[in-house]
Amino acid sequence: MTFEDFNFNTSLHEGLLSMGYKEPTAIQQQAIPVILEGKDLIACAQTGTGKTASYLLPLLELISREDENEISALVLAPTRELAQQIDQQVEGLAYYADISSVAIFGGGDGKVYEQQRSAIQNKVNILIATPGRLIAHLSSGFLKLDHLKYLVLDEADRMLDMGFQEDLMRIMSYLPKTRQTLLFSATMPPKIRTLARSVLNNPEQINLALSQPAIGIDQQVYFVYDEQKIPLIQHILSEGKYNSGIIFASTKEKVKELYKKLKVPAIKVRSFHSDLEQAEREEILLQFRNRQIALLIGTDVISRGIDVEGIELVINYDCPSDPEDYIHRIGRTARAERTGTAITLVNEKDQRKLKNIERLIDREVPKATLPEHLGEPPVFKPVEKKKKSGNQKHKRFFKSKNQKARQGS
Ligand code: AMP
Repeated sequence: MTFEDFNFNTSLHEGLLSMGYKEPTAIQQQAIPVILEGKDLIACAQTGTGKTASYLLPLLELISREDENEISALVLAPTRELAQQIDQQVEGLAYYADISSVAIFGGGDGKVYEQQRSAIQNKVNILIATPGRLIAHLSSGFLKLDHLKYLVLDEADRMLDMGFQEDLMRIMSYLPKTRQTLLFSATMPPKIRTLARSVLNNPEQINLALSQPAIGIDQQVYFVYDEQKIPLIQHILSEGKYNSGIIFASTKEKVKELYKKLKVPAIKVRSFHSDLEQAEREEILLQFRNRQIALLIGTDVISRGIDVEGIELVINYDCPSDPEDYIHRIGRTARAERTGTAITLVNEKDQRKLKNIERLIDREVPKATLPEHLGEPPVFKPVEKKKKSGNQKHKRFFKSKNQKARQGS
């Protein structure tokens, strides 16, 4: 299948060309026809699969057929970073089309709020927003969405995890009942199913092979004791193989500590966590994108959605407890069609977590040999948790073979 098959208008084809998209990804092949047909959609797809363009492209096509100069599409996203990225993709894809967008998100001062107000006033076609800030604009009575035709909930699971359930329902009360609604989520826990029932109308369902890391990622595991972790990271970085990377740690305390202790000559490192001011976070991301910062140390705040091209290395300083977080974290590298390396440091206590990851992805992660000068590694001896009978912790909407296996553990 090619993009030609969708019969997009010429300016959208030019946008695709300038973005360098040659062939539709799997989610795009499945979602675009459904959306063009005007159907509601619930799609299970992770970042890195091209899911953003899978809804933006058909929306841009549908909007280009209208001649209304009102907000006709609303995209809700959990974080400002994701909202900004979606906005950038609209800018790229719609560069040659007469369609405009604005992203509104929380944080910033009164000036930012006023800037957002005047941007909205300029009659945009697509509004991209985080839920909290959108409510502020809606309840001030200034923003009206009476002409809305398309609603997208992007990373819906993340929005619920962040406690936006009530905000979402409040936002729905401002929207026309007749509209096309598209829900994208990386996971499908029961609460997403409940949300889908209340906001979607007879949706088509797409379940992209869940929980599989991108093919281009070279995954490696090192067994280490905690005190070997920093020397190993220094060893890996000093080899000079990577120009851009992220180190994930599970808590911001660990991030701060690692940032203090990790000394790598000639590599500019910054930490990234929720204690930083918004302006600072944006500045760091910008510098990271521009390669002024080579290495970011962060929590899972950056594991989802952050779309920075050309990240070559992801290091898991600790093994994520939730196997799906592993996929999100390592998905920061090998975006789209690139390749990348993902290295996970596993201490004695985390060996069972690694087992759970391997069960989810249905294969073993290759084990790398610790350089001799760092001493002996711990032996791999994961302690299995006893099975609980009849107590399925996570029932999923769409069950893949892997997930069924995982539920039984
Ligand atoms: P997403 O899953 O939406 O976060 O997209 C991941 C990355 O893939 C982004 O950098 C997109 O610009 C890129 N991308 C999306 N669709 C395509 C495509 N058809 N071909 C190549 N790259 C794409």
